[in-house]
Amino acid sequence: MMNSEHPGVMPPVIPGGKISLVGIGPGSNAHMTQRARDVISEADTIIGYVTYIKLVADLIVGKQVIRKSMTEELDRAIHAMEFAMQGKKVALISSGDAGVYGMAGPAFEVLFQAGWTPETGVEVEIVPGASALNSCASLVGAPLTHDFCSVSLSDLLTPWPVIARRLDAAAAADFVCALYNPKSGRRTGQIIEAQRLFLRHRSPDTPVAIVKSAYRPKQRIEFTTLQHMSECDIGMLTTVIIGNSNTFIRSGIMVTPRGYANKYGMEDGVTHAGEKAGRSLSTGLTGWLTNLHADHQAGMSSAALAQQHRLPPEYIEDTLARPLHDDAAVLLQENTGDE
Ligand code: SAH
Repeated sequence: MMNSEHPGVMPPVIPGGKISLVGIGPGSNAHMTQRARDVISEADTIIGYVTYIKLVADLIVGKQVIRKSMTEELDRAIHAMEFAMQGKKVALISSGDAGVYGMAGPAFEVLFQAGWTPETGVEVEIVPGASALNSCASLVGAPLTHDFCSVSLSDLLTPWPVIARRLDAAAAADFVCALYNPKSGRRTGQIIEAQRLFLRHRSPDTPVAIVKSAYRPKQRIEFTTLQHMSECDIGMLTTVIIGNSNTFIRSGIMVTPRGYANKYGMEDGVTHAGEKAGRSLSTGLTGWLTNLHADHQAGMSSAALAQQHRLPPEYIEDTLARPLHDDAAVLLQENTGDE
């Protein structure tokens, strides 16, 4: 145990110890990385949530195994540190990626609390794994091909207003959104609130994919819409992917367009007038700045420009007050040169 009377005081470290924070992917052997397998094989102590330990049962025969329940995260991290300080090679197992709502954060918090530094303390390795959003996306098509974010609906450690603000911002900004920890036996209202917040910004027809137990025996995939999402079968092992305003489902495949249609004719592949292959869009930063200055010079107020572009007025004012960078200055001159 950590020294409770003298927090921050570390007992002497026996060399050779190591903590590996291992993400094992969604739960099938085929989707675990070779490094994850190697690190688990080389470890002499395995710590993790019971379900994850079962998933790697073949790799841990003959090792010391510490099974923990879901709520004992800090405990798991403290145990890992203590064993590593005794010279043991400890593998702390997370599903998906260890750094995504996983053990990597709590492990470093506990280590730093105990005075650990990378130079003087036990070795720490983080082994990346496919997170639920990668695994679930792969099962439904290509929903994450444009900007996306993830929000965990778990309010066990995060106040609801924080979660709600993030949902509201993600919905307003048209991010594709992966919801982790959407619902459990006791937490049933959060997904309904998430739906309400999203519906304020997005069409009720927005495609939604509900993926349960990806790459595990009980895998289930359901397509629905934002309007009906909360009526679906959602649980602890579900990830919900909400599309953006361009996402579509066709032949059972969910796709978020990459944006090629902004530049090329999707049927003939011909570049639209005013666009150049390999160059920013005419509405990219340089083109936008040029037009912004031109519109302003033509008499549009910064308030009107802010409204048109749905950007903060202070940002527009500040942008107009700054010198144009070279490309944009040249463009502006080309566009207004004959006047
Ligand atoms: N570290 C994990 C996330 C842990 S939080 C990762 O990177 O994936 C637990 C949440 O992850 C679950 O509530 C669920 O939303 C999601 N999840 C984990 N494994 C999953 C799977 N196989 N299928 C669908 N969702 C999964």
